[in-house]
Amino acid sequence: MDEYAIGLDLGGTKILAGLVNGEGQIISQKQLPTSSDDGEKAVIGRVMAAIESVMSGKNINHRRVRGVGIASAGVIDSTKNEVVFASNLGWRNVPIGKLIQEKFNFPARLMNDANASAVAEWMWGAGKGTQNMIYVTVSTGVGAGIICDGRLLSGNDGSAGEFGHISIDWNGPICRCGNRGCLENYTSGIAIENVARTRLASADSSFSGSLLEGCADLTAKQIGVAAMQGDQFSIDILKQAGFYLGIGATSLIHLFNPEVIVFGGGVMSTAPLILQEVEKSVRERCIPGLASQVRIELNQLGTESGVMGAAGLLFSEWEHERKLQIL
Ligand SMILES: [Zn+2]
Repeated sequence: MDEYAIGLDLGGTKILAGLVNGEGQIISQKQLPTSSDDGEKAVIGRVMAAIESVMSGKNINHRRVRGVGIASAGVIDSTKNEVVFASNLGWRNVPIGKLIQEKFNFPARLMNDANASAVAEWMWGAGKGTQNMIYVTVSTGVGAGIICDGRLLSGNDGSAGEFGHISIDWNGPICRCGNRGCLENYTSGIAIENVARTRLASADSSFSGSLLEGCADLTAKQIGVAAMQGDQFSIDILKQAGFYLGIGATSLIHLFNPEVIVFGGGVMSTAPLILQEVEKSVRERCIPGLASQVRIELNQLGTESGVMGAAGLLFSEWEHERKLQIL
């Protein structure tokens, strides 16, 4: 008989809930605007309404629903089931997992959004069939979700995988996290935009002639599109970001010995050439025995990966416990 789980993607612009089956298909879904300006109570109310909507939409026995997985941006504490801090939601210490659990009498499991996408790619996407894979998201920020020996690596309170904040330059610029030379400051969408802006504003004539000259409100997406059109200025910037990502990825390979590293996120979707540079940089730097067995790939799932993975974690943990009971 079919099993289900509810996945909830809690983002700064939208709340997306989905009833997901064991094959990763979203049976029913409900999207509501987050509108965090309305305050914490209103957003929590919309979260509950979205969950209610996907449960009532189909004639499904509630006993076949494993629970609710919640993927949230920001800092989360998975043991307390609370969002510790999320600037895009305007939340501090909101025990959203606990509230959902109390209201619906389902187990609820909170995770950060990179971890949810990692689980989705592992179960149903580019990492399917592997036991060790890492998902790296390159977007406004940079993060990762680590699947180690067939399980999501959570760490002490769910914060494992802060890939964007490993340092690649001990003496580099100070990061918002307090460390110096963090990878995110060289490779995120914001970092790429900053490099482009600085170079365009410089007097160096070698940067002239770009498609982006005179472009107001420059975005990483525009840089990606220009690169795809052959704009050398944009290509160079993205290649550099790929080079740095490869240095970071090499450390991941050395630590976790994955079969595949899957790259996703807004920045990756506009510029596959970054991936070529990542691969080049990994092959040059990684311990040969480890480098030869790792694949570097693009994500396969789209914007619903947060919902799928949040639900998927409940399936995978249930499966893991079932195996332990059999043993
Ligand atoms: Zn940092």
